[in-house]
Amino acid sequence: MSDAVDWAVGSDPTFAARRAALSVSTWQPSRSPAAIARPRSAAEVVTAVTYARDHGLQLAVRSGGHSLSATHLGEGAVTIDLRRLDRLKVDHARGTAWIEPGVTVAQAARELDRAGMAFPIGHAPTVGLGGYLLAGGNGWNTPQWGHACERVLAADVVLPDGERRVVDLERHSEIWRAVRGAGPVFPGVVVRFQVALEPGAAHVRRAFATLEATEPTALGAAIDDLLSELPTPVETTVFWRPATRRRPRAEATIALTAFDSAVPVAATLEQRGWPTTGTARMSLADVVDGLPRHQGDALASDHVWTDAPFAALLPRLSQHEDALTERSSILLTTSSRRADGGVPDHALYRPTGSTSVSPYAHWDPRTQDRRPQVEWTRRTTAALADLTTGHYVGEADLTNRPDAVGRCFPPEIRQDLAAILERYDPHERMAWTALARAQLLSPPART
Ligand SMILES: Cc1cc2nc3c(=O)[nH]c(=O)nc-3n(C[C@H](O)[C@H](O)[C@H](O)COP(=O)(O)OP(=O)(O)OC[C@H]3O[C@@H](n4cnc5c(N)ncnc54)[C@H](O)[C@@H]3O)c2cc1C
Repeated sequence: MSDAVDWAVGSDPTFAARRAALSVSTWQPSRSPAAIARPRSAAEVVTAVTYARDHGLQLAVRSGGHSLSATHLGEGAVTIDLRRLDRLKVDHARGTAWIEPGVTVAQAARELDRAGMAFPIGHAPTVGLGGYLLAGGNGWNTPQWGHACERVLAADVVLPDGERRVVDLERHSEIWRAVRGAGPVFPGVVVRFQVALEPGAAHVRRAFATLEATEPTALGAAIDDLLSELPTPVETTVFWRPATRRRPRAEATIALTAFDSAVPVAATLEQRGWPTTGTARMSLADVVDGLPRHQGDALASDHVWTDAPFAALLPRLSQHEDALTERSSILLTTSSRRADGGVPDHALYRPTGSTSVSPYAHWDPRTQDRRPQVEWTRRTTAALADLTTGHYVGEADLTNRPDAVGRCFPPEIRQDLAAILERYDPHERMAWTALARAQLLSPPART
């Protein structure tokens, strides 16, 4: 191994701890990398990629470790762990920033707040900007600020052959397009993203109403009614929690977030007679800081896009799941689309439905069995199969269906992505290229 890079191989005493630290989830599949590199600079990424190329080893990449399909693990591959590439540099004059992939959502929120700038960062504090931007990025205030990947102006990329290139609309635009949405099947390692910022630090007001979900169709209709009255930029998310051993009835928490503090989000919920709590105006950085960090949890997720109304969706969601933990929930949000309904230009990312539905299972691997938790995420998405219009590559379960990657991209994008993989990773050096190409070129069994 090259002395210039901090490596650990299977026989090193630090290897097991480094492997465990790759994922936010304390449960990981058994695939084991041959080595884990923790580069400190883009130049060290080039060294690690070149080493893997010269020794015929495949590459997997880790930025913040939130892939619940563990795409940062490839059997016998070298995992490039980018946690030390964690700098964010704002260019005030241009209204842009260069962001390294190991920067987390919470770090970006805080640094942008200090700089008096904003960006559609992801919702959870520990998500890495690397995987988030590549997947597409359904962030805070997407309706007004757009999808995060649309704001990627340029990227500094190490290709699988070790060559380093800056890509943008003018230079290697094909690979720049792949930075905007190829997600875990991106052919290379992004060492920096240049993004367009939003002027002004972000502040929000939030309001929550938690209701027993004994009549899901009626509740769904009431939420549809609420949505028809709310100004589109108000972020609306419904957290659905089935009844469990300790929670007697299924519950739905409706969360409204307004970036425009003139919008009376609490009053909007109170008017419906719903028990409401609200927050004072807060910085987005403080909101993000206060969200759960899931430390010690094992996690699983899946995802569907749909155009169905809540009145059709809620009755399909499970009511009783005795084995489920209290922290598991299904997130349904209408706020991962632009208010104008537009889709990202020059991008592979395509949100293909008006509502995003993501079951997230959390459990304690020391005391709870994994199987019922994972089966619940799959059952949830299966229950919506005939209402499904697509899947988000950042949250869909990519490991358990033979056509999972293909189902995350509409047909025209599948062909483009397969051609990009053929061109930029012809020797299938990235751990996911072979599987992705096979799935992209054969039509999925269903959307
Ligand atoms: C608790 C939680 C909350 C989430 N919230 C949101 C949300 O609000 N909005 C949203 O859109 N998504 C959300 N996601 C999904 C998340 O954005 C994706 O899973 C994303 O890929 C995670 O990025 P990461 O860098 O943390 O993960 P990683 O596991 O490090 O990365 C995932 C994969 O992306 C590729 N990758 C990552 N970085 C690079 C790089 N620099 N170069 C090349 N390839 C790279 C690799 O294939 C890697 O295996 C959430 C996920 C979790 C678990």
